[in-house]
Amino acid sequence: METAEQRVKRWIRPSILESSTYHVPDSSGLIKLDAMENPYSWPEDIKQAWLQKLSQVNVNRYPDADASVLKEKLSKTFAIPVDQGVMLGNGSDEIIQIIAMAVAKPDVVFLAPEPGFVMYRVIADLVRAEYIGVPLKADDFSLDLDAMLQAIERYQPAVVFLAWPNNPTGNLFHIDTIEKIITSAPGLVVLDEAYHVFAEHSFMPQLPQYENVLIMRTLSKLGLAGLRLGVLVGPNCWLNEFEKLRLPYNINVLTQCSAEFILDYINVLDQQAAQIRKDREYVFTELKLMPGVQVWPSAANFILFKTKSICANDVFKGLKDAGILLKKLHGSHTWLENCLRVTIGTSDENNAFLKALKKIL
Ligand SMILES: *Cc1c(COP(=O)(O)O)cnc(C)c1O
Repeated sequence: METAEQRVKRWIRPSILESSTYHVPDSSGLIKLDAMENPYSWPEDIKQAWLQKLSQVNVNRYPDADASVLKEKLSKTFAIPVDQGVMLGNGSDEIIQIIAMAVAKPDVVFLAPEPGFVMYRVIADLVRAEYIGVPLKADDFSLDLDAMLQAIERYQPAVVFLAWPNNPTGNLFHIDTIEKIITSAPGLVVLDEAYHVFAEHSFMPQLPQYENVLIMRTLSKLGLAGLRLGVLVGPNCWLNEFEKLRLPYNINVLTQCSAEFILDYINVLDQQAAQIRKDREYVFTELKLMPGVQVWPSAANFILFKTKSICANDVFKGLKDAGILLKKLHGSHTWLENCLRVTIGTSDENNAFLKALKKIL
């Protein structure tokens, strides 16, 4: 008789068998500065009001499949232009997956600058699309416009993903280059504004001028990573097709209720973001003063830096031994040799990180 393992080998697609599970490191007991989470919780009275609201949720019932109340509130909060459609995802990762599934067919191409957000490639692989990464400029990680336009011309991508600001480099691509890419792209351009509150820049006002641009947002970096709520905004003719792939109840009742609730207190989250932006400048200045460290300016809630005299593997390990978890980028891209990414935490967390790093260096 065939063993379970043999059956798995026979039936699971070879590309899945060869791929690996997305790895999330164990962070228990560590100061978590690896995943761009907001380090703050809510004031006690708001927390109590939220719990009160949650207690009225009917978990025995399916959620509103259209999440219409939540979408209405998001449209106001994000100043979404009136003629634009909104689709919600279980995190923006799910939205990327839905877009990918909708355009996937043999020989379809997704294109993104690199180093960039890894999920674009991961999801391209899952739907068996071809993924083309176009190198950013090595010195300042700006878009190499000529290389982008040539690659767009040559590969005719169905979707170009642009994270604005970019992860893991933290910079905001120049708006002129983005517009040139949009007008040259034969298909969709997805502007991933996961960090828009930290950048204080958005393409939202210009969105109605284009027929091939979608803006993606998430509540994760704003302080609600645990809820899993991503937002896609763009022309209804695109979103109507994506809606056919969205599973009907992808936004659960607790997420809908919690997000509706906190959007009434968006000023709390905005104040937290303002604090994070301020602390980002402090951490940036401190890193810049450290000998042997190269640091890049960031418009997001994290900072990319390079340790020039010590291998980033050792720095990563040293920090972990000191109780601090960062994201190690060394080994993930040629441009990121000896690079690490630190998320801005509370001021105590930031100082613990800076102190431990100084000691290691
Ligand atoms: C974190 C991140 C996301 C994913 O957000 P979720 O909504 O939590 O899935 C998307 N894009 C970029 C560029 C990110 O850094």
